[in-house]
Amino acid sequence: MVIVKEVSAKEILDSRKDKTILVSIVTNVGSFSASAPTGKSTGKHEAVPYKKSLSEDIKTLQEFSSYFSKDIIEKFDDLRRIEDIVEGHLGANTTFALESAILKALAKEQKKEIWQLINSDANKFPRLVGNCIGGGKHSDTEGKKPDFQEFLIIPDTKTVKEAFNVLIESKKHAEYLLKKKDKNFKSKTNDENAWITSLNDKEVLDVLSEIKVPLGIDVAASGFFKRKKYHYENPLLKRTEEEQMGYLSNILSNYHVIYLEDPFGEDDFKSFAELRKKFPNQMIVGDDLTTTNQKRLEKAIKNKSISAIIVKPNQIGSLSKVKQVCELAKKNSIKITFSHRSGETEENILADLAFGFQAEFLKCGITGKEREAKIKRLIEIQESLS
Ligand code: PEP
Ligand code: MG
Repeated sequence: MVIVKEVSAKEILDSRKDKTILVSIVTNVGSFSASAPTGKSTGKHEAVPYKKSLSEDIKTLQEFSSYFSKDIIEKFDDLRRIEDIVEGHLGANTTFALESAILKALAKEQKKEIWQLINSDANKFPRLVGNCIGGGKHSDTEGKKPDFQEFLIIPDTKTVKEAFNVLIESKKHAEYLLKKKDKNFKSKTNDENAWITSLNDKEVLDVLSEIKVPLGIDVAASGFFKRKKYHYENPLLKRTEEEQMGYLSNILSNYHVIYLEDPFGEDDFKSFAELRKKFPNQMIVGDDLTTTNQKRLEKAIKNKSISAIIVKPNQIGSLSKVKQVCELAKKNSIKITFSHRSGETEENILADLAFGFQAEFLKCGITGKEREAKIKRLIEIQESLS
């Protein structure tokens, strides 16, 4: 059993150099810490990262320090006891980092890996989803850029290590192609280490089609949906909901895109459903639509809006709620994609959570130490089992 004797927290910087939280705990089995990432293209239905502010959460956590020692943690579901103490007092980032640190302690005490605390029979590995070329809110550039936020590569390989190699080679290949096709290309990368380009969405898809790998797109459509229209900048034009449907249908029909995330605004369950019905063999994925929130997933199920869901633990904060969302998704044959945030730390617990919850996909970028930490951990788990 684990008893949390002391808790403290401090500010650290994420990959974007924004402040985020690192929580440290002292327990009967040693000291552990964990940090939380930060999103930028956040959904409006996400839980807040901090109750009032990061510094207030650090203070509150310190004040709560002595409360935790009254509870004994023996299994994953005992995290509920911690949530009962902090609920309503701390934000999602703080709760997620605290619970992650506790899982590390529990794994050590039980001589297990974190994924085994969730499901010791886990055996299927998630497919990697790597962000290769970016646009939208994640590419902070003066010049032109794609309106879609992420152009993803989704290798289909036997092992995670092979998939990682395909991602690295594909990213290099994409750089070579962009140098030829984009006269403004400077080999610069964005928030998630994806290439920044001045090409538009279709030109990027043409480039990636040459690599001959299955593709995904995160449209992150809420980022440019205003007053009932989708405001494209490259080229400059507004699309109505109907035109957006036509545009995306055209893309799904003409490119090897197997995965389409947030194609419409974050409350448009109906348009998601229409697209899903038209393309039953391609994944229509909810991120800002569902925000790892059980109620929103229930609504998406009722409306038949999605075939896959993004799970970002700090969109909801509590790991018990993450478990409920995963169980509900599985029961309804909705595929699960565990995902990093655009501002990341070197924390690698995401790989254990994705494998433990038997997610079909893990979206976590391709290069950069923060992204690689998660992929390397997944490779380590796979190699430990073979
Ligand atoms: C996303 O939209 O899928 C994403 C990773 O972005 P962020 O972390 O900025 O919400
Ligand atoms: Mg997204």
